[in-house]
Amino acid sequence: MKSIRGIMLIAVSLGITLVLWATATPTVPITVLDHLREAMGGLALNGLALCFVLATKTPVIEKWFGGLGQVYVYHKWLAISSAALLVVHGIMVEVIALVDGPSPETISGQIGALALFLIVAIGLVTIYNKKLPYERWRTIHRFMILAFAIGLYHGYASAKFNLFALSPLSVWMGLTALIGLGCAVYVVFFYRRTQFKYEGRITGITRLSPDVVELDVSLAQPIEYAEGQYAFLRVFQEGLEDAPHPFSMSAGDGRNVRFTIKKSGDFTKDLYESLAPDAPVALEGPHGQMDFRHGGRNQVWIAGGIGITPFMAYLAQNEIDHDVELFYSYRDPNAGIYHDFLAEYEKRNPHFTAHLVDASVDGMLDFSEYTLDEDASIFMCGPPPMMKAYVKFFKDKYGNVNINHEGFAFR
Ligand SMILES: Cc1cc2nc3c(=O)[nH]c(=O)nc-3n(C[C@H](O)[C@H](O)[C@H](O)COP(=O)(O)OP(=O)(O)OC[C@H]3O[C@@H](n4cnc5c(N)ncnc54)[C@H](O)[C@@H]3O)c2cc1C
Repeated sequence: MKSIRGIMLIAVSLGITLVLWATATPTVPITVLDHLREAMGGLALNGLALCFVLATKTPVIEKWFGGLGQVYVYHKWLAISSAALLVVHGIMVEVIALVDGPSPETISGQIGALALFLIVAIGLVTIYNKKLPYERWRTIHRFMILAFAIGLYHGYASAKFNLFALSPLSVWMGLTALIGLGCAVYVVFFYRRTQFKYEGRITGITRLSPDVVELDVSLAQPIEYAEGQYAFLRVFQEGLEDAPHPFSMSAGDGRNVRFTIKKSGDFTKDLYESLAPDAPVALEGPHGQMDFRHGGRNQVWIAGGIGITPFMAYLAQNEIDHDVELFYSYRDPNAGIYHDFLAEYEKRNPHFTAHLVDASVDGMLDFSEYTLDEDASIFMCGPPPMMKAYVKFFKDKYGNVNINHEGFAFR
């Protein structure tokens, strides 16, 4: 299982938190219910701190979770679970008041209610408002750092445990709070400023179809990457959003890199329509676990729409000497790209077979009649729902099959 070290990180951190809260001695006598409520608050704060650690996108986190796509999945579920724990933590105040009689209202209690409101409200917006433009979604999401800081203040100010005296609980709480806050500050204020160290310029713009544009970038310092990986691209041109967007490198040698980009929203539409030659850009990366060199001698490649780009990166740089069967599905003739290149490659290289499927004519790719060789590795790239469906299909049919996939969306 690729995410095992990542899962262990979460389990160990939450496990230590739970044990320390369960075994800590309160400063005043409290009921079991009250003790449980405080432990839930501590667990939720630990979960939120882990969310910020995961959001740093550092290579070690990406490796431990088996890719940023997986990191985002765990990030999301940790955030949802932490918010749920906080809601229960809040409800328990009322339950305890009913059982033991009301306790006096305190400022730190009200601050806790504010943190809870912020976390739930921001969480609901970020999870359920899929129509929000990504940059606005991200801005709202960044307010989580404020909610987390307020939550920490509430935790320290109202805990019935002395979190300032030297004890295993106070050391652990302090350490995880500092790590969480440090990561949050890095993500919100420093990531964009420090990590885009590959600077360069646009040297070529080729419109391949009414929807897809190919951008050539020349970098001052070469980026080392494996074909199949992607980078976050920022473009500095007036009128264009300068936020980072992930794109696979579809060709290049590190100093010169190509991106093949489909219009999917405002930024990609602007790139297609108004990007100027010579515009300055910066890259952060590389990221991604698609590495065809680790796939063995018999590979099945499945590309959905613009998900052809990582495969193109490999074909553009390598003359393959092992068996590769590509299934490339696109929605209509305009959405399909690189047909001539693929046909030419197939003609020239006996190891390569390409099946080009126009889904508007032939329907979705269907593997029910297909027999997968025992030693085959599958590589897939495209929209996440498509990835999910095919992963399920191949796992159901073949059990423990080697599948590598990259979904082209994170949220
Ligand atoms: C690993 C990966 C590799 C990708 N490679 C390619 C590629 O080679 N070619 C290509 O055309 N597209 C690729 N994409 C998709 C591309 O990143 C989005 O289409 C693009 O960011 C859309 O931005 P927008 O403002 O035009 O559209 P929006 O309407 O803002 O976004 C459309 C969708 O794209 C995703 N998205 C938008 N902005 C970001 C962001 N900053 N970070 C993460 N996801 C975002 C969101 O899921 C969003 O719902 C890739 C995505 C991922 C995750």
